[in-house]
Amino acid sequence: MTDNAQHLIDLTAFTADHCLKCNICTAACPVASITPLFPGPKTVGPQAQRMRLPGAPSPDHSIDYCSGCGICTLVCPHGVRVMEINTQAKAQMTATHGISLRNWFLSRNERWGRLGTPFAPLINFGLRLWLARWFAEKAVKISARAPLPRWAGYTFRGWWKKQVRQHPRPAPASDAQRVVYFHGCSTNTYEPHIGKLAVAVLEHLGLYVEIPPQTCCGLPAQSNGDFKAARRYARKNIAFLVDYARRGIPIVGTSASCMTAIKGDYQHVLGLDDPDAQLVAEHTYDFMEFLAKLHREGKLPTDFHPIERELPYHAPCQLKAHGMGRPALDVLDLIPGLRCWEIDADCCGIAGTYGFKAEKRAIAETVGKPIAEQVEAASAEVVVCDTETCRWQITSLTNATTIHPVELVAQAYGLTVDRYTPPVTARQM
Ligand code: SF4
Ligand code: SF4
Repeated sequence: MTDNAQHLIDLTAFTADHCLKCNICTAACPVASITPLFPGPKTVGPQAQRMRLPGAPSPDHSIDYCSGCGICTLVCPHGVRVMEINTQAKAQMTATHGISLRNWFLSRNERWGRLGTPFAPLINFGLRLWLARWFAEKAVKISARAPLPRWAGYTFRGWWKKQVRQHPRPAPASDAQRVVYFHGCSTNTYEPHIGKLAVAVLEHLGLYVEIPPQTCCGLPAQSNGDFKAARRYARKNIAFLVDYARRGIPIVGTSASCMTAIKGDYQHVLGLDDPDAQLVAEHTYDFMEFLAKLHREGKLPTDFHPIERELPYHAPCQLKAHGMGRPALDVLDLIPGLRCWEIDADCCGIAGTYGFKAEKRAIAETVGKPIAEQVEAASAEVVVCDTETCRWQITSLTNATTIHPVELVAQAYGLTVDRYTPPVTARQM
């Protein structure tokens, strides 16, 4: 029996039996309503699960069209973990048939980000060439219309090491003043300015920031069914972070998808039945969730400078699926003059690496259409969102600039000190 099959027995057998076939999940699924290639969460989830034998090949290849957005799990009134069932079935399919070159490539984003950094100008130029994108679509089935990031040309970690060398900080008296920042792959190589602003905000709150070694959260590998690689990444991160969690030090990150993977997927999807995984999960927060928690505890200074703007906000599916509300809206609401309103859309369509795939790009664009329509109707030039791939997708669908909420928080605190790149919002608003 394979590792994956063992996991299917442990985690999904009982939740599938709670399905009452009400079809609420199918009505809410953003993919099922768009393509006949995907019969919907009830059918490929709990219904098919009853037919799947642990260790046997998956009987249903349409599962590949599930984007893993998690909306079905969120809406199911009977607590069936439909997305988790689907993701495990995908992993079983990958274990049976192997992973495609394209999916393997998309699962190793961390590696390409690092390796590409010294060649950033060349890669950024090449990836904007129509011919190169056409060739990538034909050769490896990465859509020519997919919203690819730009390499920054330096890493956030490199910047941080230099800061620590040049500005030695006195160690805090107690662990209560420490915080761990988990930057994730995207901040490290594509959007280091978000990490710089996150550090600026945390230091402004009087916290001593620690940035331990870390690797990819594993979510790209998990969503492509490569559980072996995803578990490898997860175990490494747990080993890097568990000592901090044991000391009660919070672990915060600006990539909502990475943080929700650490908070929930390591145990509920990858099946890491490990007290250390539990301990790390208990101490992990999405960045805005952490600020909202500090505010509830009366520890968040609210001496914000006004930002006189009205901005649309998109809550990423993964964040919604974790049932933590809308912490970004709660915090941004404290900034005088700023009115952020939530876009009425379940999903932007990108769902991690899903919308990068040639055969799924049209689905991803159709799923994201309501966002584009509302941004256009509001004539919004800036959209706020907590997850990087959602931001890239929204930019590609709307031409709006997309920013992380921390950029607004940093601006409202007046954090434009020399050590940090000025926030995007300061230049564009
Ligand atoms: S999984 Fe939940 S929402 Fe979907 S059909 Fe079953 S009970 Fe209904
Ligand atoms: S995870 Fe998203 S795409 Fe997949 S079945 Fe559930 S709602 Fe549909």
